[in-house]
Amino acid sequence: MPTHTVTLIPGDGIGPEITAVMRDVVEACGVRVEWQIAHAGAQMLDQAGTPLPEATVESIRQTKVAIKGPVTTPVGSGFRSINVQLRKELDLFANLRPAFSLPGSGARYQDVDLVTVRENTEDLYAGIEFEEGTPAAQGLIDYCNQTGAGDIRPDSGISLKPISITASRRIVRWACDYALANGRRKVTAVHKANIQKFSDGLFLQEARQVAECYTDQLEFEDRIVDATCMGLVTRPQQFDVLVMPNLYGDILSDLCAGLVGGLGIAPGANIGEHYAVFEPVHGSAPSYAGKDVANPTAELLSAVLMLRHLGEGQAAERILSAISAVLAEGRFVTYDIKRALTGSVEGSVGTRRFADAVIALL
Ligand code: NAD
Repeated sequence: MPTHTVTLIPGDGIGPEITAVMRDVVEACGVRVEWQIAHAGAQMLDQAGTPLPEATVESIRQTKVAIKGPVTTPVGSGFRSINVQLRKELDLFANLRPAFSLPGSGARYQDVDLVTVRENTEDLYAGIEFEEGTPAAQGLIDYCNQTGAGDIRPDSGISLKPISITASRRIVRWACDYALANGRRKVTAVHKANIQKFSDGLFLQEARQVAECYTDQLEFEDRIVDATCMGLVTRPQQFDVLVMPNLYGDILSDLCAGLVGGLGIAPGANIGEHYAVFEPVHGSAPSYAGKDVANPTAELLSAVLMLRHLGEGQAAERILSAISAVLAEGRFVTYDIKRALTGSVEGSVGTRRFADAVIALL
């Protein structure tokens, strides 16, 4: 069996605990991985002068595949999200978040099996911001007022929403190719083109054009984002692959995680032409850090996605079945699952015990 070299970023908060057990589960499955440990997060500011050291990015450039734990982004501190930086630096333009029902997860819905594909590089996440009261913000306000683009109140802060033809075509093509490669039948483009004509309107126009190349193989439809939210909570089974600009993807993928049992079980991947970084949807849950209570399922399912990407499909399916069996049995589940099932956390187990139960079934 070949040895894979993978960059492992433990992250902070609950990250080190869930990545440690992920590593044990992957190794227990017999997959040989040489882990290159690399760090990122606020704790690196003191040591390396930056939360995302160049050595970490360089490691991923070498290995081409990384798996990470979550990393805290302090609110309103001028500290840019490491996740956003990584996605930009490595041009990880596609964010893949599968949401599927796992019996025993305590989810509200059964029979959900959908995937959100989120454009990862532009939209309101581009980080192009104008702070209220600055000359730059004032200049933009004056420009809009003078050109008749629209009146903006003088005490406004402004974030720009760039949507390009390039990124829109690339993400919709990626979503369609993913759908085909994974036996899916329908792609839904999500937007607000009726209001944001020049940004979402452009996304929709390009999505429709790209989808025309797939008409023989895939069904294509488009939906307005608010109607999509309604459809997701009323009848999520109607959706298959959803593709959308960055901010809607951020929000809808959390909504989809909620449909199938919550953040503790929602995996994700950031994929570009050359590199792939796998990570759970959830954040660093700082209040649970170091307490051995976090649910490692999302991190383990991110490893399942990574193993498939590495061509280790059999190992991936074995881990998925073991997780499904532990959840279905319900004896060794973490607090979030126990609470969803019974309304109380009594009888729940910790991160390590859950992982040991998975390992025992591999
Ligand atoms: P969060 O996902 O960390 O936590 C929200 C709540 O979800 C937690 O209080 C907890 O109740 C629950 N939860 C999350 N993960 C869980 C798990 N594995 N097991 C059990 N319960 C779990 O969201 P937040 O509190 O908004 O963010 C905390 C920090 O994480 C912020 O700094 C945020 O910027 C960062 N963040 C990082 C990433 C990432 O690294 N990819 C993603 C999202 C948020």
